[in-house]
Amino acid sequence: MSEWDGKVALVTGGSRGIGRAIAEALSIRGARVTLTGRSKERAQQAASDLSTASRVPLEGIAMDVMVPDSVNRAVEELLKRAGRLDILVNNAGIARDNLLMRMKNEDWNEVISTNVGGLFYCSRAALRPMIRQRGGRIINMSSVVGLMGNAGQSNYAASKAAILGFTKALAREVASRQITVNAIAPGFINTNMTSELPEESRLALSESIPLRRIGQPEEVADAVVFLASENASYITGQVLQVNGGLYM
Ligand code: NDP
Repeated sequence: MSEWDGKVALVTGGSRGIGRAIAEALSIRGARVTLTGRSKERAQQAASDLSTASRVPLEGIAMDVMVPDSVNRAVEELLKRAGRLDILVNNAGIARDNLLMRMKNEDWNEVISTNVGGLFYCSRAALRPMIRQRGGRIINMSSVVGLMGNAGQSNYAASKAAILGFTKALAREVASRQITVNAIAPGFINTNMTSELPEESRLALSESIPLRRIGQPEEVADAVVFLASENASYITGQVLQVNGGLYM
């Protein structure tokens, strides 16, 4: 019996990229994982693909983190099915890059609502069962851009810096219930979000990273597994950077 057996995890934005790698890493260890995406089909497909290699079949459900009713319904359904919730990974996030002078109101609002609003709705819904259980882990996906900024990403940087403030405030709020809240700040990771960069920019980017390469989703997932594990029981309100040394 491992520490993961019987643990129930919810990974938002698990239909691809970093979230999918996190769902896989947790379920391979034995946790019962539900992953979400806006599209039910994509979420179910990812869950079924990952289930072949996992000891516990994954569930894939539709949930739009921008819509409080959708979040509450998804968490209620999960609780009906699994009876508890031990680990919430707030991973869903989007970028809509542009220079500030050219940025449309929609691009600002959509990024803030998804990346920050989603964090609020999902954390609030997940805290109810965690408080009842007197324990839990919340892990929030920030970004190196929230720490160091990036031209053309003022909306995204603002949202990712907000996640750090939220993480520390909530960590203080729920520590007495033995719930830990931490953030991960990945650097540049090989997913859909970064694949659109031209090859030239990817090369230049790799040169600027001390470890000389873009990271893999699995390397972020390993950090999530650590923060969700018993080994991280005395860590809360922290930001773990997974960036190849890009920012120190
Ligand atoms: P992807 O674009 O590959 O995946 C994003 C995921 O979020 C998808 O599963 C998508 O599912 C889901 N999603 C998007 N909007 C919503 C929404 N409104 N409600 C629910 N789910 C949603 O991104 P990455 O894997 O690259 O990024 C994952 C997280 O890591 C993000 O928070 C990102 O900001 C952060 N990050 C990424 C870095 C990188 O270099 N890739 C670096 C630093 C941080 P669907 O489309 O099915 O709805």
